[in-house]
Amino acid sequence: MSVRTRIAPSPTGDPHVGTAYIALFNQCFARVNGGQFILRIEDTDRERSTAESEQAIFESLRWLGLDWDEGPDTGGPYGPYRQSERGDIYRKYCTELVAKGHAFHCYRTAEELDQIREQLRQEGRTALKPSDLTLPEGEMAKRIANRAPYVVRMNVPASGVCLIEDMLRGKIEIDWAQVDAQILLKSDGMPTYHLANVIDDHLMQITHVLRGEEWINSAPKHRLLYEYFGWQMPQLCHLPLLRNPDKSKLSKRKNPTSILYYQRTGFMPEAVLNYLGRMGWSMPDEREKFSLSEMRSAFDLQRISLGGPVFDVEKLSWLNGLWIRELSNEQLAERLKAWLFNREYLLKVLPHARDRMETFSDFAPLVGFLAAGQLPLTEADFTVNRLTLEEQKKLLQFALWRFEALSSWNKDCIFTEVKTLAMAMDIKLKDFNASLFVAISGTTASFSVMDAMELLGPALSQARLRHAVVLLGGVGKKVLKRWQKAYSELF
Ligand code: GLU
Repeated sequence: MSVRTRIAPSPTGDPHVGTAYIALFNQCFARVNGGQFILRIEDTDRERSTAESEQAIFESLRWLGLDWDEGPDTGGPYGPYRQSERGDIYRKYCTELVAKGHAFHCYRTAEELDQIREQLRQEGRTALKPSDLTLPEGEMAKRIANRAPYVVRMNVPASGVCLIEDMLRGKIEIDWAQVDAQILLKSDGMPTYHLANVIDDHLMQITHVLRGEEWINSAPKHRLLYEYFGWQMPQLCHLPLLRNPDKSKLSKRKNPTSILYYQRTGFMPEAVLNYLGRMGWSMPDEREKFSLSEMRSAFDLQRISLGGPVFDVEKLSWLNGLWIRELSNEQLAERLKAWLFNREYLLKVLPHARDRMETFSDFAPLVGFLAAGQLPLTEADFTVNRLTLEEQKKLLQFALWRFEALSSWNKDCIFTEVKTLAMAMDIKLKDFNASLFVAISGTTASFSVMDAMELLGPALSQARLRHAVVLLGGVGKKVLKRWQKAYSELF
């Protein structure tokens, strides 16, 4: 049987460098073994999934040079490759599990579940077991008759040890006592990750599952589902998680994590891919700079080391510099043109700059911030505002939360968010904008900050806001909690 690997990103938010990292190793492993690499879209969270985000996943992986053999846009013999279009398949298999007694309908309400969890905690148990969920018979019949909402959960053993075989870690033992009676089908009829992923991997004939190590603890549930269905389980390989330089799990609060950020700030896709290839993996001769095809020709999964690989933007920038210096002037000129210095972008920028120009030489200083990465700001830049630094930090953080939730990015949508937020926070629009101006454009003497954000795009605009929040002292855990509460109360 030929090797078939896959990734299953969720189209919620910006495409993440972690997704590209997992994609790289899956694609390499498949191609080295003459097999296929499949892209599946995990969009079962209907509230958070967006078409824009799905499109951004396609575009950013292609930008990096990571193409796939089957997927929602390319098609293939095992489609559909979008999980939201596979609802009937999941329901059919789920019904089969219930009929065989491997899964059951659970009518417990959220309040009851809270109580049950509290009871478990007092007993020193962690996992929710089927026996914890049974309702008195009369009550069950009543809820069924009332067509109360229910979920489908899987049966799991109460005790014993589950053995998982991992391609990098060997045998892993996980106690069944830690494993919940997992929800398989939600009350909206959509599957959870666990059900959908097992069914799809089987039907799409996936032979090797290379995924993030955060899924190790879910492996027992998956193993059990394969047993229940009577299917052979693919081989598992859990890749080490990317980390911030302080070794915590890679997070956008500490590092830009959107691939679009790296694209927009002028990184070369070859360098980003090269750097992702260095995450936990190395060439036999330990050289730092290598191309995708060089990586493929030397690829061996067993060379992955399990120590948490650190994703460090400074290191990536250094590597990018090596790649730039290997370009000829001709090639570099072409790259710069393709990036930002082209007629199309110029035509987008000019309407905002022209009225402020007396000579052509006014142009570059006026719009330089559009071609910059992070701005060299200091706290002092914010002191001209009438608001205190603390107030500004708060409004920038709140604006960031609003912007992160936006699915389309244009001046009008951005302005609506700003207006709504300024009003809700009882801040004069003028003061609010002045803070945004400094964070986004580096100065208040520029054209409209809404236009500037549209031209910068969501990834870079948001990264600049995050940077400004950090510059103003950052937000500690306690304050963050307080602000999150205040923010949710505003709307
Ligand atoms: N949506 C999951 C993720 O991106 C998929 C995990 C998997 O590959 O099975 O983490």
